[in-house]
Amino acid sequence: MRNFTYYRPETVAQAVALLETKWGPTELLAGGTDLLDLQKEYVAQPERVVSLTGIRELSGIKVDASAITIGAGTKLAEIAEHPRLRDTVPALTTAAGEIGGPQIRNMGTLGGNLCQRNRCWYFRDEHVSCCLKGGNKCYALDGENQYHAIFTQGHKCVMVHPSTLAPALIALGATAQVQGPQGSRTIELAKFFQAPSSAGQREHVLAPNEVVLSVTIPLVGLQNASYEVRHKQSYDWPLVQAAVAFKLDAGRASDVRVVLGHVAPTPHIAAAAAKALEGKEVTEVTAAAAGKAATEGAKPLSQNGYKVKLVEVAVKRAILTAAHRKKYWEV
Ligand SMILES: Cc1cc2nc3c(=O)[nH]c(=O)nc-3n(C[C@H](O)[C@H](O)[C@H](O)COP(=O)(O)OP(=O)(O)OC[C@H]3O[C@@H](n4cnc5c(N)ncnc54)[C@H](O)[C@@H]3O)c2cc1C
Ligand code: SF4
Repeated sequence: MRNFTYYRPETVAQAVALLETKWGPTELLAGGTDLLDLQKEYVAQPERVVSLTGIRELSGIKVDASAITIGAGTKLAEIAEHPRLRDTVPALTTAAGEIGGPQIRNMGTLGGNLCQRNRCWYFRDEHVSCCLKGGNKCYALDGENQYHAIFTQGHKCVMVHPSTLAPALIALGATAQVQGPQGSRTIELAKFFQAPSSAGQREHVLAPNEVVLSVTIPLVGLQNASYEVRHKQSYDWPLVQAAVAFKLDAGRASDVRVVLGHVAPTPHIAAAAAKALEGKEVTEVTAAAAGKAATEGAKPLSQNGYKVKLVEVAVKRAILTAAHRKKYWEV
């Protein structure tokens, strides 16, 4: 690991003042479960590391009648185990509870989860210089792409977004509060992520000198669930994830949101799936039709055609779980 200067500010304003206007020389550190790996792998080589661990205002969960606000420094384990959150936003607590293993969940934070770098193995290899590391080629396009995107249109980089909290938060209509040198602003989570195409971009739209403060989820009575298909039950990322949310009135769904994870460089909003379920009674048949519709526009690469079927299954199961029609797992 390259030597760096370590800073531990006590306020967000102090942290922001230490950041720069370009990515790379200075990095924020939260739980370190991603950044330190990248440093040890020589993929990130910051000269200055600004720890957020001394900033108390970033941690904690507040719940009132209309919203939940979760500080960016809140640990994933605390989110997964919070009783009120488990009752109201099971899509989020299920996703948080399935991340990595206990060590990762006890160190990893909400802000770090949303801002983590992608897991493409070419990106993580210090010797490979792909589009996101200053090169001009995506090695996954004609390489080992079994875990890469199936919704690839217009994207120069075909990695999949790694966060499993992101699809759940988008389905729940969450917003992020962020702070930079000009003050604070609010970003809809649905607009927080972008597909990067060069070394000058990240997987999100934050400026290099902005810090995520918190995430707010409106409480508007949505049934919700997240379903992941995984190779292994721990220490791995899902192959495909579906997060869904909808209102349920006399068995019929309205205000339907379906968001897919691990199939595109950003969380993928499956509008056709939402439309297929809107106004319908939630049954095995309508849930399966929404699953089929969720695959609209998929264009698999040479080795990941299997993900199309997984999308169908994950969406169907997430919908039936959210409507309490079926239970596929215990958490
Ligand atoms: C074996 C393993 C399995 C995993 N499985 C999953 C999984 O299934 N699903 C999943 O979603 N994740 C998974 N992860 C990733 C894990 O969730 C992330 O590593 C963790 O959430 C990152 O949080 P952190 O606080 O440790 O971030 P750090 O490593 O400290 O930071 C990560 C990035 O976020 C930036 N950052 C951190 N906080 C902020 C902030 N407040 N504002 C702006 N930028 C910030 C940092 O600068 C850095 O670039 C897994 C990780 C491992 C090692
Ligand atoms: S998928 Fe993205 S990160 Fe992976 S090799 Fe291609 S450009 Fe690089």
